[in-house]
Amino acid sequence: MSQKNLTILGSSSQQPTRYRNHGAYLFRWLEEGLLFDPGEGTQRQFIFANIAPTCINRIFVSHFHGDHCLGLGSMLMRLNIDKIKHPVHVYYPAANQKNYEYLRDGCVYYRTIEIIEHPIKEEGSVEETDNFIIEAYFLDHGIASIGWRILEKDRIKFNKEKLKENKIFNSDVRKIEKEKFLQIDNKTIKLEEVSYVKKGDIIAVIFDSRYSDKMIKISKDAKILLIESTYTKENQALATKYMHMTAFEAAKVAKEANVNMLILTHFSARYTDLSLFELEAKEIFENSYVAEDLKVFNFPN
Ligand SMILES: [Zn+2]
Ligand SMILES: [Zn+2]
Repeated sequence: MSQKNLTILGSSSQQPTRYRNHGAYLFRWLEEGLLFDPGEGTQRQFIFANIAPTCINRIFVSHFHGDHCLGLGSMLMRLNIDKIKHPVHVYYPAANQKNYEYLRDGCVYYRTIEIIEHPIKEEGSVEETDNFIIEAYFLDHGIASIGWRILEKDRIKFNKEKLKENKIFNSDVRKIEKEKFLQIDNKTIKLEEVSYVKKGDIIAVIFDSRYSDKMIKISKDAKILLIESTYTKENQALATKYMHMTAFEAAKVAKEANVNMLILTHFSARYTDLSLFELEAKEIFENSYVAEDLKVFNFPN
């Protein structure tokens, strides 16, 4: 089975620290690489993580504050050096088209890779691919900032025993999948008699924003909720003032949205001990973890 995991390439907020690079997060899922918010230094973090950047198919930029986007230009340049053959989709708020273009064209090189741009103006479903449905929602951060909900499409899985029992082999399997029924020896077999629907997983990725109830909708029933928690709750006033969240608020979202696993990130440089965040979240939502650079989280079952 292919990899299905999240690699933390960075976990700091505005300023990196000795131990935390600017944020960047790579989901490997259904043979695709989904990179979120490549901050400065992301290219080098790929080396430390021992992952070839060529796995990237889609890059998501939540907003254009430096800690979320300064690595975009270098990642595109790198994919160009690597001569990737597949297109790279880039999703970002349309309000900052100019900033996107500055980053894309911030240095001189002869571009050969195909970049498919998705400037996002309106919230809701923004793209449907063979594998995924991609939804975007605007958050509350002073500038356009997007929270993402990504749904893996449901899939038909065949019950091998049932196929054998009904003597359905080879091309007939494809036929019943396409036509939803099959006629064999004067008997009609319905697709659901020999198969079941495997529900696709959902992830939610929420970066810079003040708490809002909308986050519960974005995260509903997600396997993984990756969410910012710049502060712990004794700094709630700072979180509100600077349009960020606390671990406490992030855990409230996880609980209300019935997610499976909560991963906190985007920590203020003022904190050295991240266990404070985990403890604060666990009081409300048990399956909580902190992102640490180069840590890998498998999708929960
Ligand atoms: Zn930030
Ligand atoms: Zn920000």
